[in-house]
Amino acid sequence: MFDHLKAQPQDKILQLIQMYREDARDGKIDLGVGVYKDATGLTPVMRAVKAAEKKLWEVETTKTYTGLAGEPAYNAALCGMILGDVVPMERVASVATPGGTGAIRQALELIKLAAPDATVWLSNPTWPNHPSIIKYLGMKMAEYRYFDAETRGIDFGGLMEDLGRVQAGDVVLLHGCCHNPTGANLDAAQWDAVVRLLAEKGAMPFVDLAYQGFGDGLDADAAATRLIAKSFPEVLIAASCSKNFGIYRERTGILIGIGDAGGKGVLQGNLNFLNRQNFSFPPDHGARLVTMILEDDALTADWKAELEEVRLNMLTLRQSLADELRRVTNSDRFDFVATHRGMFSRLGLTEAQVVRLREEHAIYMVGDSRINIAGLNARTVPLLAAAIAQVS
Ligand code: PMP
Repeated sequence: MFDHLKAQPQDKILQLIQMYREDARDGKIDLGVGVYKDATGLTPVMRAVKAAEKKLWEVETTKTYTGLAGEPAYNAALCGMILGDVVPMERVASVATPGGTGAIRQALELIKLAAPDATVWLSNPTWPNHPSIIKYLGMKMAEYRYFDAETRGIDFGGLMEDLGRVQAGDVVLLHGCCHNPTGANLDAAQWDAVVRLLAEKGAMPFVDLAYQGFGDGLDADAAATRLIAKSFPEVLIAASCSKNFGIYRERTGILIGIGDAGGKGVLQGNLNFLNRQNFSFPPDHGARLVTMILEDDALTADWKAELEEVRLNMLTLRQSLADELRRVTNSDRFDFVATHRGMFSRLGLTEAQVVRLREEHAIYMVGDSRINIAGLNARTVPLLAAAIAQVS
């Protein structure tokens, strides 16, 4: 049987990690992999997470199964963090999922159950796992323009033109904040216009919120998601705690479905059903830590303070890279780095330039010239800027 299997294409980022590991040069710089790293290159366990883990070890009395939807306290705490009070909770169904990816996968399966012919619209570019899962599920997809290769900002004219072709009942996947891979994000007026257009078209928004707290702050980063949540009769939100709680390997996410009050029972039942088919009960450890942090004022304050340090560190690195590039290229070509938000920026270099950076300077970034800002530190910012100036 196994000889009928076809080799799967290698994940480009995992391939890059491998190449980086095998590179024996001193001073090599990894700007590829999408995890937060501090100035020493480590991805630490957050203080509040450690404290919650210690407490959990003391108070946990059983490891029997949770509910199919996860623990209600987790869902309530996370829905509160994401939605604030913009929608009445009677309209909100939710399930805990294994990471944000699990939530995305379940959302797409729900769409497939409800409307197998719906087209899912993705930004061009987007996180490669979006099209990959959609293709795997055999669903229809289309692209809307997003990134302006000239300005490295949003191609808003192209985006609106393409979303103008969306049909009633289509699904439009939007990054709630901190767009991956570009780092370019819609401003408030642009979000308003997109929401008006999609509402007019009768489309359903599907928000991927993987970096809340990494851009402009916890509430600011949820603003677009909240606007969407209150503006449409039906919305799906797939959120991840991997980055903002730094619990990547605990696989902690949530899928939120907003429908009309009467639909909640059926919607919730379908979300539970999908969990049951795919993995039965969702993982609990990470979800429990998140709940303990969000339910305890002191832990919440400490977590928020550390998350803010992380966010400000990335902003400082952005500004110093933009300043350094301005200095070494004697131009404002790279000023966009300071206005991008989140962990990533697409620099707009050619594939050949990316290869030169790797081969000649031991600087590793994804082939589309996406860099992980958190992979930098005060020492490596000038090295990167000088190398970019040399190859571009
Ligand atoms: N969406 C986007 C845009 C992401 O970048 C990621 C993580 N790389 C995820 C979702 C999912 O994250 P996870 O499954 O690790 O929680």
